[in-house]
Amino acid sequence: MNNALNIIGIDLGGTHMRASLVNSAGEILASEKDKTPKTPDALLALLQNMTEAVSKEKPAAIGLATAGLVDGKNGVILVSPNMEAAVGQPICSMLAERFSVPVAICNDASAAAVGEKWMGAGREFDNFILLTLGTGIGGGVVHNGRVLDIAAELGHMTIDLNGRRCSCGMYGCLEAYASASAIVQRATQEMSAGRESMIKERCDGNFYKATASVIYDLALEGDILSREVLKDAGSYLGIGIASLVNIFSPQAVIIGGGVRGAWNFIYPEIKARVSKISFAPLVADLKILPSELSDTAGVLGAARIALDLLSERRAGEFA
Ligand SMILES: [Zn+2]
Repeated sequence: MNNALNIIGIDLGGTHMRASLVNSAGEILASEKDKTPKTPDALLALLQNMTEAVSKEKPAAIGLATAGLVDGKNGVILVSPNMEAAVGQPICSMLAERFSVPVAICNDASAAAVGEKWMGAGREFDNFILLTLGTGIGGGVVHNGRVLDIAAELGHMTIDLNGRRCSCGMYGCLEAYASASAIVQRATQEMSAGRESMIKERCDGNFYKATASVIYDLALEGDILSREVLKDAGSYLGIGIASLVNIFSPQAVIIGGGVRGAWNFIYPEIKARVSKISFAPLVADLKILPSELSDTAGVLGAARIALDLLSERRAGEFA
């Protein structure tokens, strides 16, 4: 592979978006981060500004990773409960026209799986599942060294048909129990019902300002409610992962998002559920690991997919 190739990887998330200039060795040379705008026009304008800010020179290609169901062939987002501003927008053609370079689009969690395979916790594995806990729960499945070009909407796996309402409009999806947003929501519900927690004090008396990272920090400091909601999320996550293990028999399950800080509370719950529910031979050598790249997995994976596009290989194929 030509080491002189620089690619722009873009990770368009439900809350934040990031653009990075990445070389073909997987090094990030420059990055920009901003909040994801709510209107299509603002989104397109910011995308253009950020790509220009990270690279004064024309990149060799652009890779765009985005939340939701993606039509890679036509370069549009089909469904994205957490990113409605981008649905149906000509994002790919706009960027391709502006920079006169090839543009690849893919689901953000699939991109994160490619990123982890290329430069992170997935390096050692040819078969693994990545789950990203953020505004929603994204999923990517790597099989025989390649990310599968499937919907992989693992966060919308139903774990309780009569359960909590999900952002997709259905009930009882894994995402409604174990995403970072769900963890925050559960904690605020408990506090609005009168539960005491250090969260309120940490958020200047207004617990509605709580974030997942505040809850992760306070769990480490001994806050009972924070620990409880994290263990609860870990338990539901374990139920979902147990099914995924039975279906895909992966060597590893890698969990991304900001969850690394709360790993000691979430991991034992996941492990207990998976050990109990999954078929024993599938669990014997299974690794359950936090991601290594955290918030750069998406831009790295998007860049790698664009590199693969350039070298006329199928997206997600690893040399
Ligand atoms: Zn759902």
